[in-house]
Amino acid sequence: MKVRPEGFKGYEPVIGLEVHIQLKTESKLFCSCPVEYNIPPNKNVCPQCLGLPGTLPVLNRRAVELAIIAAKRLNCTINKISAFARKHYFYPDFPKGYQITQYDRPLAQDGYLTISNKKISIRRIHLEEDTARLLYKDKKLLIDFNRAGIPLIEVVTEPIIGDTQIVERFLRELRIILVRLGVSEANMARGQMRCEPNISIRSRGEENLGPKVEIKNINSFANVREAMRCEIERQIGLLRKGKKVIPKTMGWDDKKKMLVPLRTKEKSADYRYFPEPDLPLLKIDDDYIKTLDRSIDVLMPDEIRKRLKKLGIPSARIETIININGYEYFSTIKEYYERITKKTNDTGIINFLTTEVLGYLNVNNLELSEFNIPAQWIAELLAQVAEKKITSKTAKDIFNIMVSEHRSPEEIIKVENLIQIEDPQILEQTVDMVIRKNPEIVQKIRRGKIRAIGVLVGYVMKTTKGRLNPKDVGKKIEEKILKGNNGA
Ligand code: ADP
Ligand code: MG
Ligand code: ZN
Repeated sequence: MKVRPEGFKGYEPVIGLEVHIQLKTESKLFCSCPVEYNIPPNKNVCPQCLGLPGTLPVLNRRAVELAIIAAKRLNCTINKISAFARKHYFYPDFPKGYQITQYDRPLAQDGYLTISNKKISIRRIHLEEDTARLLYKDKKLLIDFNRAGIPLIEVVTEPIIGDTQIVERFLRELRIILVRLGVSEANMARGQMRCEPNISIRSRGEENLGPKVEIKNINSFANVREAMRCEIERQIGLLRKGKKVIPKTMGWDDKKKMLVPLRTKEKSADYRYFPEPDLPLLKIDDDYIKTLDRSIDVLMPDEIRKRLKKLGIPSARIETIININGYEYFSTIKEYYERITKKTNDTGIINFLTTEVLGYLNVNNLELSEFNIPAQWIAELLAQVAEKKITSKTAKDIFNIMVSEHRSPEEIIKVENLIQIEDPQILEQTVDMVIRKNPEIVQKIRRGKIRAIGVLVGYVMKTTKGRLNPKDVGKKIEEKILKGNNGA
């Protein structure tokens, strides 16, 4: 569902983002507990990340490095000196009563990302520790501290005016940049990237921003889109009735697909920020930043866009490849394919990736990085189609066997006898047989229901287990029925 600016009639939405991203470190931000997923609750905990008194935080160097790498590629100024602060609030996800974060002296500031020629300003990027995970079960509150203390960066944008589509594109671009840099896995479904849109409405032409509503911790692009739409509509509805928008914090109920009020908005004074006394100032020098930045040799999405565009790939497909982080996989398939066939077929490879492979990933809730089929196998499979050894229908069947049994296409083709039938006699005979067995359908086709040819093609394909080329089959059937040459 798209929200078009012209649909707001005299009003314009303003959206500022606060995005939390888990850094890909081996251990937590202030202790040596490992960071792992899919483990039993409260396995990776120690007195420090439980927040017990008498423990001291020790800053994780790798987390700082990853945050710097991210900030640099997001065009931020990295502050030579930054500081940690305590943000106080009373909630079971922080038993020590405060979160260690950065406040008035963040790690980095004043960056930007360019999205479709529009510059989206990044106000700041800072480091902080993640909270424990709360779970409500049978009217009880359960707390899992595995997540407590995992390093996060928070990326805060300046308000983005008037365009919710840009907001979504910005989030996708941010995610993929961080994934490619190796800064985060940023898997939203797994909570490794969480987004809080701040939304206000103002009349067109108005200079000042209206009061804002913050929506907490949304964990999918679809939910961000939907939550923005609901909240924009709600606020415009209020304004139309002459009512005021009251600043507050809302949550997004993923099951009911609706916003739920959480609390009235705290002001920063409520948090009683003060400098973290147990950590020294964080000092970073320019050479260190340069060395770190140079150590990362990956293409940024804009460069990938350029390269794929040059190959004539349509832009929707390009975005899909970028979103699944599939450029390197594509390039490897391409290389093998060209070596085998001495030809290029970029569009065919991209199509196969964005339909078959992506379809499989979606159904199984996997990332491309977790897909264990070698690029070489995909190349071999597509080369077999190009060399007319198998039909593209067969290629799809082989792909399914390949992913479920982890066997190479070569082996599958040999064992299952799937080579495309080139013998014209078999084509002829099978078509004749199917025509003979289905006189009613043949009559329909003769009376003009041309589409019914497809049914007969289906029967022929089924009889030969998809080993004939469906185009040839269609042509043959048409020839026989419509030109009266049905062999009967
Ligand atoms: P808070 O202290 O309430 O968290 P901040 O000033 O730190 O507010 O801003 C948080 C986010 O909200 C930023 O991304 C900022 O751009 C955005 N923001 C601030 N004011 C508005 C507003 N009136 N409308 C929409 N977004 C806003
Ligand atoms: Mg906020
Ligand atoms: Zn710990």
